[in-house]
Amino acid sequence: MSAGQGKVQSLRGLVDLLPQQTPLWQHLEATAREHFRRAGVAEIRTPLLEHTELFARGIGEATDVVGKEMYTFVDRGDRSCTLRPEGTASVVRAAIEHGLLSQGAQRLWYGGPMFRYERPQAGRQRQFHQIGVEWLGVADAASDAEVIALAWDLLAALGVGGLALELNSLGSPEDRAAYREQLVAWLEAHRDQLDADSQARISTNPLRVLDSKNPDTQALLAGAPTLAEALCPESRERFAAVQEALSALAIPFVLNPRLVRGLDYYSHTAFEITSSQLGAQATVCGGGRYDGLVEQLCGAATPAIGWALGMERLVLLLEQRLAAGELQLPAAAPDLYVVSRGAAAERAGLALAVALRRLGLAVERDASGSAFGKQLKRAQRSGAAWVAMIGDDEVASGQLRLKRLGAAGDATAAVPDAESMVPLGDAGAVLTSLRLLNQD
Ligand code: ATP
Ligand code: MG
Repeated sequence: MSAGQGKVQSLRGLVDLLPQQTPLWQHLEATAREHFRRAGVAEIRTPLLEHTELFARGIGEATDVVGKEMYTFVDRGDRSCTLRPEGTASVVRAAIEHGLLSQGAQRLWYGGPMFRYERPQAGRQRQFHQIGVEWLGVADAASDAEVIALAWDLLAALGVGGLALELNSLGSPEDRAAYREQLVAWLEAHRDQLDADSQARISTNPLRVLDSKNPDTQALLAGAPTLAEALCPESRERFAAVQEALSALAIPFVLNPRLVRGLDYYSHTAFEITSSQLGAQATVCGGGRYDGLVEQLCGAATPAIGWALGMERLVLLLEQRLAAGELQLPAAAPDLYVVSRGAAAERAGLALAVALRRLGLAVERDASGSAFGKQLKRAQRSGAAWVAMIGDDEVASGQLRLKRLGAAGDATAAVPDAESMVPLGDAGAVLTSLRLLNQD
């Protein structure tokens, strides 16, 4: 390395998932995949990179995500591209592009990395991961409850505690237009008491002021007109039906009239799921109905509802459960550990390991060439139940030794009376012996 050049590190807010961490992620992903399979929800995978315009139109210029947080660049063909900051716009684009919407209701899920240029902190990164669900062409109130149940039960299946569901209705576009006028009038009348961000939002995105994180603004808003009062009778009835369906599914909720989405294509049901086990970033899942979005992206008017959950925040919770012994992950230990020493023995060991893997066994091979004792210690640490030992003697006699290992961490490297000689170079015989020995 020449002077002045240091190690290249990862970008700020972009995180490596190391081998100790990936089993937990795999557990989370496998649980989600099975959960969606049971509910008849199909997976969709879209590119990480899209035309910037998709997000500008699909999320909205006035949002923080589009206004401040996107990773946008011009590619070599002079296109403005953006790394996806969320999944919904891409899923809707793909559904329109491939004519999925004319094939009946689409019940879809996706998972993967998202990119937002935010200030990194615990549970907040610049590359983070979401699992999300989008149901397109689904209009009924019962489906709103079904979609929420999908999120709630997934979190419950993962053992996440302290869950709370907050629910609101944004009503129809007409309800919101009427409410927006009332709210803007009220905000203008209280302008000098608002924080600077909220003042700016009066003209760009007034509903979003309700969502302000500023405590003084929140206190002031207690006196503001609420959206609930502005709903027309049909919207109220619909909202009541969603609540009844949730109650029938034994999913508790609290109404939060401040829970809003600032954009016009959102309507009716909006919800958030928080966990009291998370710190400042308590929201694990957010979602709602977006009946106007497909049209906004030039598809035929299609009712739709979805949610997205943050996987990093979920992993933080799962790590707590793991540490408390409330969660056990399937052991990653191999079935057999191959120890060998000497050129001929090592060749035989490699052949055996590969042949047994082809027969379906999980086999780890020690390639260190170090003393048998050291290799056996590593065999022990691997958690393998069995070790195959091949040295010069075994090569000479054409027989390898199979030994049963004690429990991991056990000082006795091998249980002496559980040992068997098997023809070297006959993987089938080794497999049969292991099966027989395992029955003992
Ligand atoms: P927040 O208010 O926490 O910024 P948001 O409203 O921007 O959340 P959504 O766009 O609704 O979040 O995304 C859904 C979920 O994705 C969030 O509830 C959260 O769990 C997760 N999430 C969002 N941004 C990040 C991030 N930068 N790092 C990690 N997780 C995130
Ligand atoms: Mg955010």
